[in-house]
Amino acid sequence: MLTTSIGLQTKLDAKWYIPGAFNGNITELCLLKKITSYPERSNLGAPDYTCKHCNAIFWYQERIKSDSSRRQNRITYNSCCKGGKIKIPRPCDRPEPLAALARFNGGPTSNKFMRNIRQYNCLFAFTSMGANIDRTVNDGRGPPVFKIHGQVHHRIGSLLPSDGSPPKFLQLYIYDTSNEVRNRMQALHPTDQGDESLDPSIIESLIKNSR
Ligand SMILES: [Zn+2]
Repeated sequence: MLTTSIGLQTKLDAKWYIPGAFNGNITELCLLKKITSYPERSNLGAPDYTCKHCNAIFWYQERIKSDSSRRQNRITYNSCCKGGKIKIPRPCDRPEPLAALARFNGGPTSNKFMRNIRQYNCLFAFTSMGANIDRTVNDGRGPPVFKIHGQVHHRIGSLLPSDGSPPKFLQLYIYDTSNEVRNRMQALHPTDQGDESLDPSIIESLIKNSR
């Protein structure tokens, strides 16, 4: 299975800058900062500050005002690790072929993989998300809002698909496994499909290495 650590964002996105969310290396971070610019999405600019304890990145506007001073070159933020008091072990390295694919500075194959990473991640999901979604709040004014009533849950069907239905989610691991790649590609809902077609050889390599 793909790990949740790569099921994050398909595109370079402002969400990458959730403080504490970055766990890659510094080279990758620099590259990310260099090629990411969304002036139309934010008026805060890039999150140019880094926690000296855990390397979480944050915006100047998130600083602890009482403990920050530009004159003294000290910008403090402690919602990540409480000033070094909380130490979270680094996540395990990604296994191959995931490590080679999930890179922003790789070759054409990894670039294509990163552009469609959400779709690849969906192919390996056991369940679908269920919630009572309130769509009335999106009336065209303001940014889209995702609002739910009650609790988020997972939908899981029977182990085998019902007659005439293609296998999906958990069923993909059990039903007609000799055609697993094709089944997975067919299971992707049209609304989840991106502009590019997925690469069957990538899916096959991920299947092999998830066993
Ligand atoms: Zn920190």
